[in-house]
Amino acid sequence: MNHDRSHALFSRAQQLLPGGVNSPVRAFKSVGGEPFFVQRADGPYLFDVDGNRYIDYVGSWGPMIVGHNHPAVREAVQEAIGNGLSYGAPCEAEVEMAETITRLVPSCEMVRMVNSGTEATLSAIRLARGATGRQRIVKFEGCYHGHGDSFLVKAGSGMLTLGVPTSPGVPAGLSELTATLSYNDFEGATKLFGEIGGEIAAVIIEPVVGNANCIPPRAGYLQHLRELCTKHGALLIFDEVMTGFRVALGGAQAHYGITPDLTTFGKIIGGGMPVGAYGGRELMQQIAPAGPIYQAGTLSGNPVAMAAGLAMLQLIQEPGFHARLATATAQLCEGFEAAAREAGVPLTTNHVGAMFGLFFTDQKVETYAQATACDTTAFNRFFHAMLERGVFLAPSAYEAGFLSSAHDGAVIDATLEAARAAFRSLADD
Ligand code: PMP
Repeated sequence: MNHDRSHALFSRAQQLLPGGVNSPVRAFKSVGGEPFFVQRADGPYLFDVDGNRYIDYVGSWGPMIVGHNHPAVREAVQEAIGNGLSYGAPCEAEVEMAETITRLVPSCEMVRMVNSGTEATLSAIRLARGATGRQRIVKFEGCYHGHGDSFLVKAGSGMLTLGVPTSPGVPAGLSELTATLSYNDFEGATKLFGEIGGEIAAVIIEPVVGNANCIPPRAGYLQHLRELCTKHGALLIFDEVMTGFRVALGGAQAHYGITPDLTTFGKIIGGGMPVGAYGGRELMQQIAPAGPIYQAGTLSGNPVAMAAGLAMLQLIQEPGFHARLATATAQLCEGFEAAAREAGVPLTTNHVGAMFGLFFTDQKVETYAQATACDTTAFNRFFHAMLERGVFLAPSAYEAGFLSSAHDGAVIDATLEAARAAFRSLADD
């Protein structure tokens, strides 16, 4: 594969953008090498500026659940653009968006639209702190909730990839208010609540971890957290920025049957545009201007972004949409495992709905410690072996993979053919 144009762009970018990128994991730092620059995307594919085509399992890190450049989403955006780009005054699409979210996710009776997942989580913990009058929050090691100060404590995603899970620049006075727990550790949660339960404003969790590879909750774990929060008067926040509308139409809360107090969204609700949201029940009445807890946004509820998100939410409501995606994801994971087995490479997989993770180990991974103990060197080699064969996996061992409805049988077969050759190349070296 030729990468001359990408290389030239990356050289220019490195002079102008920190690390040559606008979001850290894109830089290929942990897997080595240089990122390709995208010219266009269509269906399950990305096309780079050198004319190479990749089957894409990143999907813009989650939003592209109907594939890239879906005509219905594109046409909705084109139509919205004809009416102007931003109003700074209410519009009908915002009401339709709120109606759609509250219908699909019943724990949200009211929502506030924002512009990213980070804004959604920041706003949700402000609400939790304001509503409870408590200051502490609890998060889980390896979970990522955006780059808000309170969350950059033992965080996943790029923080984990770069090996700096706690960021300089976060005031100690703030990070001290964030307690961390091991995901899927029942005892640890019980113990922490026993010690400081009365001081906890909220527990925030990725109900399926997607930022430390892909780790589903153990049976009863989310219920355990629900009970602890209820007992101690803390709020339970599900960060469904990744899982929302993906692991099931109603998100992880529908999939596992647990009702959180607040939910944060991003990615899919924007259809590929910069959108986030948070929602809940009567608590939401405390947000300004209904109540005293302040949160605002110049571009929030942007009409073009709402049009993209609404078009995508329309598409995923087609009966059987999520079941088909879950079946395809299971087939893909079984195929990866079989290909690795044939080549004698230790590999296990996790998947929930249309999210999956590959682990270079012979163990089933259920904890952050197990996820981080996997063979990252093998992952990095596999990543490049797949890229050379035209398959783009997330450029880090600590990110979930995503399928879209455009990943049909032929695309999955092509992926597995590449995987068989890639695993063989690993075994041969
Ligand atoms: N929460 C979760 C679970 C995420 O996966 C992400 C981003 N990957 C965020 C929050 C932050 O969203 P954004 O990047 O849109 O700020």
